Amino acid sequence: MTCLDNLFLWVIEFSKSPFFFTFFVIFSFLMSGLITVISHRLPKVVHFQVIPALTFTFRGQSKCPKCRHKLSLKDVFPVFGFLLNKGKCNYCHQKISIRYPIIELLGAIPPVALFTMFNGIELILLLVLFWISYTLIIIDWETFYLPDILVYSLLFVGLAYSATGYGLLAPSESILTIIFTYLGILTFKVITIRIMKKDALGDGDVKLIAALSGIVGPIGILMVLFLSSLLNIFSYLIEAIFRKESLKEPKPFGPSIIAAFYLVFIFSITGFELHFL
Ligand SMILES: [Zn+2]
Repeated sequence: MTCLDNLFLWVIEFSKSPFFFTFFVIFSFLMSGLITVISHRLPKVVHFQVIPALTFTFRGQSKCPKCRHKLSLKDVFPVFGFLLNKGKCNYCHQKISIRYPIIELLGAIPPVALFTMFNGIELILLLVLFWISYTLIIIDWETFYLPDILVYSLLFVGLAYSATGYGLLAPSESILTIIFTYLGILTFKVITIRIMKKDALGDGDVKLIAALSGIVGPIGILMVLFLSSLLNIFSYLIEAIFRKESLKEPKPFGPSIIAAFYLVFIFSITGFELHFL
């Protein structure tokens, strides 16, 4: 056994130790907090040039939305900051919306689950895939917008997943599926605009569906489209029962597409054959 093999084994063993697991749980919460900040700032810099946009997104301390007081790390630490301050701002004592800790908690749990199930490059790719798609869900939910920079990043992570051999498709299958899905969905969009005089899918949705098709393949993406339509109808029904006045409000499609994608993807990697190319 060479020195390099020993080092590799040590890294694998260390990465599964309780110490590293604890570190990863804290890291996962911090990433979730960072995603909450990015998803709040990124839509505001769409028309900036790249460097000023990145500077705005990642720099500058968070402030209380009500009193504008700068927040310390203790205040913004995901979920725990909310619990420590009993759901109130530490400075103006006004209530903080429960949606922040909920978004942070939902963003921190799946990476920990992935950490216990996967290793190495595959784990890193699946984590990045989750973090990008979770950011997209929050941004689309709040602003009806899917930033290109995130959708393209998702596309490249999907291609990397195929290229490293972990994916469901070979790289050439991924690229072909992306091209044909993009053209197919674009044709569907043009036809619905002509016939129904209504734009059912946003440009961001078309790109998002194409990017995800490179991971789940042609049959998988048809299932994603079917399931995401069902999820959208289901969420309309839920709102019809609980909040009648908001029924006329349009709904973002991105969160349903991503949720459906994960359902199909989890089925696929647990042995359910979907690809036929
Ligand atoms: Zn405040």
